[in-house]
Amino acid sequence: MDTLHSKLPNVGTTIFTVMSQLAQTHNALNLSQGFPDFPAPPELLERINHHLHNGHNQYAPMAGILELREQIAAKTLATYQHKTDPDTEVTITSGATSALFCAIEAFVHPGDEAIIFDPAYDSYDPAIRLAGGFPVHIPLVTPDFHIDWDQVASVINKNTRMIIINSPHNPTGAVLSKEDIATLARLTRDTNIILLSDEVYEHMVFDGQCHESLLSHTELATRSLVISSFGKTYHATGWKIGYCIAPSALMKEFRRIHQYVQFCVVTPIQYALADYLQSHPEHYQGLAEFYEEKRNNFNSLLSSSRLKLRPSSGTYFQLADYSAISNQPDIEFTRWLTIEKGIAAIPISVFYAAENQPDKQTLIRFCFAKSEQTLKQAAEILCAI
Ligand code: PMP
Ligand code: GLN
Repeated sequence: MDTLHSKLPNVGTTIFTVMSQLAQTHNALNLSQGFPDFPAPPELLERINHHLHNGHNQYAPMAGILELREQIAAKTLATYQHKTDPDTEVTITSGATSALFCAIEAFVHPGDEAIIFDPAYDSYDPAIRLAGGFPVHIPLVTPDFHIDWDQVASVINKNTRMIIINSPHNPTGAVLSKEDIATLARLTRDTNIILLSDEVYEHMVFDGQCHESLLSHTELATRSLVISSFGKTYHATGWKIGYCIAPSALMKEFRRIHQYVQFCVVTPIQYALADYLQSHPEHYQGLAEFYEEKRNNFNSLLSSSRLKLRPSSGTYFQLADYSAISNQPDIEFTRWLTIEKGIAAIPISVFYAAENQPDKQTLIRFCFAKSEQTLKQAAEILCAI
């Protein structure tokens, strides 16, 4: 049909859908799409039940219920020493995905450029294009996937409107250092560049390192939108609830879009999260340790396999190099691994723009947000390959 003029002609179905479906079809252990296979805290579930049965079932305020925004502001102050006005600087969103989309639509105008780093989480590029902007893809430098700031400096020009950073980083597990953030501040000082910081894995940073939130940086916090996700922090990705923090002038623009994208977010879960954040701060405070133990366990279970593991400093993902096992390209290899061996993983070539595609990609991503039993079962299979 001539009238079907796609706005995203080069986009297929996301890799997460593709691999999870393949895992289901072939009854494989699903270590591909990032989600835990263990439950959310029982007391949090009980609070949802409570609010469902106590009349909290109608539209929430557009920005989210004040109780939850206040808890987020309190957590932000305690964690990042950043003072946030819950009334004008916090908005609850349908997951981080929707927050990212609204932030990009609010600030990227037709002809603007937005810098992103490959391998890049897959929702950034299409959102920039839909806003009429141009994604400028910069490859992270292997083997540790750090940012080449000289290259960033070389592409910044008067059209650069946004830089999107993601630390801890999906899919590599790399984290930005204090020096990275200081360089970012230096490069964007006296410019009109807005920073969009995807910090959904903020509470999963390992080996005694600290998460460098842009909220901790007094200067950068004045022109950043920082995004997080309760789905990650509370083991409940299916709830699709997250939030955005930004200075009020930026938040005003963000809400102009948010109010027409979703207006508001599921009410009883907001009340339950407000209760739980207040009563159980130890949940997010202990999350790094919880996932570090899973990472260590998964790594040691795989010690006799032919996979070469890359360091994972944060997130619940682990990259593995399979070049000692196969010469296949990563997409084919993950299909083979799922169909023939019963383990689903994510090929990482899909997170690179064509111009940044490495000559040979032999890294795949596993999600270790799994029960001890699942990790053991997966490792037994992987060690036998
Ligand atoms: N950003 C990154 C880096 C992610 O890994 C994810 C998904 N897991 C999201 C954003 C989206 O989060 P949500 O499920 O809350 O929409
Ligand atoms: N963020 C999750 C991952 O990286 C998946 C999100 C999705 O399925 N869209 O695996």
